[in-house]
Amino acid sequence: MSVKSWYERKYYGEIEDLPEEEYDVLVIGGGIAGIQAALDLGDMGFKVVLVEKEPSIGGFMYKLSKTFPTMDCASCIATPRMAQVFHHPMIDLLIYSEVEEIEKKGEGDFRVKVLEKPRFVDSSRCTGCGQCELACPVIVPHEYDWGLAGRKAVYIPFDTAVPRIAVVDLDHCIYCGQCERACPTEPPSIDFTQVPKIHHLKVGAIIIATGFHLFDARLKENYHFGEYPNVIHAMHMDRLLAPTRPYHAILRPSDGKEPNNIAYILCVGSRDKTVNNPNCSQICCMYSIKQAQLIMGALPLADVTIYYIDIRAFGKAFEEFYQQAKDMGIMLVKGRVAKIEQKENGDLIVWYEDIENGGKLCKAEHDLVVLSVGLLPNKEIANVFKGQKLEVDDVGWIKPVDENANPVETSIRGVFAAGTALGPKDIPDSVIEGGAAAMQCAAYLSEVRGRH
Ligand SMILES: Cc1cc2nc3c(=O)[nH]c(=O)nc-3n(C[C@H](O)[C@H](O)[C@H](O)COP(=O)(O)OP(=O)(O)OC[C@H]3O[C@@H](n4cnc5c(N)ncnc54)[C@H](O)[C@@H]3O)c2cc1C
Ligand code: SF4
Ligand code: SF4
Repeated sequence: MSVKSWYERKYYGEIEDLPEEEYDVLVIGGGIAGIQAALDLGDMGFKVVLVEKEPSIGGFMYKLSKTFPTMDCASCIATPRMAQVFHHPMIDLLIYSEVEEIEKKGEGDFRVKVLEKPRFVDSSRCTGCGQCELACPVIVPHEYDWGLAGRKAVYIPFDTAVPRIAVVDLDHCIYCGQCERACPTEPPSIDFTQVPKIHHLKVGAIIIATGFHLFDARLKENYHFGEYPNVIHAMHMDRLLAPTRPYHAILRPSDGKEPNNIAYILCVGSRDKTVNNPNCSQICCMYSIKQAQLIMGALPLADVTIYYIDIRAFGKAFEEFYQQAKDMGIMLVKGRVAKIEQKENGDLIVWYEDIENGGKLCKAEHDLVVLSVGLLPNKEIANVFKGQKLEVDDVGWIKPVDENANPVETSIRGVFAAGTALGPKDIPDSVIEGGAAAMQCAAYLSEVRGRH
């Protein structure tokens, strides 16, 4: 099939319409909360379909370095769970797929339309060998490493991706055909004839676990993120510190130098009405303290300063973790950072209000600045419900029917939510909510199907 013909197919919107499939529960979002919900329901004997929009499940967790406050390896915990959900006999995965429409016909009866995007790789044949990646001449920034490293136009999402199947990124493909020639399967797994598929699902209940997205640090213009190369955000630093990190070193972007005086600025895009987000993002204090401790291990001679408004170490063992950071020599400065200036050599001048010393304006020089960006809601999912309103709060987080007594049931009966889809939170709380939503789903199905 020539390149032109598959492109024409996409252009003219040829779509494969699949027959209806029936499941007990639809879980939307394959992060740690959705994975937990799917596993708990599958283990209880419910037939589950999990829909994930990216080419692999895993959400944010598999990208992290370690987890506060226990300093466990995040991907070592996430990866077995991802494999478990993939191999579970009661769970089907619809990966690289998006829910387009949900209609409630009655209690325990939802009809759902899911669009499965073409990977342009035949999943039944691809072995994940990576030969196509090696052959492809196009390099673009890799989303997995937040642009710190590159990937090819055909790529396996990351080493421990689930499923480990290549995907072609049409936006960057130059249609040279080298991947197809390099692919060792017979016939080659690269398949440019693929078209989008529409799945029609009939499900009894739904769990929304669509997670969060990061605050866009460019909106805080005085910090010059995206303009000054040595101003990065916390996900960049978590990638630089992760066991699966891109360069096996902490290097600053402008010149590849190992930084020796790093600053953290907390609450970037959180507790800030100027960017319409009055919420505390709950995790930024702790992930910054975690990263600062990991930096002290990786760069023992480096200075690390955290500029904060308040440190919120509210969880189990968090306060001790915070005290430990101080004992390690991490400097904590109470003060809002007003602006950052860049010197010719790429170093940065941080201007801050020194609150504990009379609130005077001070400046300090650093060679790398990390912005501890906040969490914002994924708002799209509220728009897919036809004829029913999924209530969200003023910021856009899914609003439960009762914040205290019923925190995972949404305004639509039979639709539950879990994890950061409901608001900022850490991994353990996301896992707990995944389990809670699974239990509520089971109780709901039992009630509407008359199995009390
Ligand atoms: C820099 C940083 C460091 C962190 N460090 C820690 C730490 O050390 N310890 C800790 O406990 N927590 C940490 N966290 C928080 C942790 O990442 C979250 O608590 C956790 O990822 C929440 O899981 P989740 O499943 O709710 O959401 P996510 O991880 O966001 O997963 C949501 C999933 O849903 C998918 N999705 C979204 N929309 C759709 C859709 N419409 N259809 C289908 N799929 C969809 C997404 O692609 C994603 O896979 C950190 C966060 C950040 C940003
Ligand atoms: S056809 Fe596209 S994906 Fe394949 S090698 Fe060429 S540029 Fe890469
Ligand atoms: S598409 Fe072919 S070359 Fe690429 S990973 Fe799959 S089997 Fe290997």
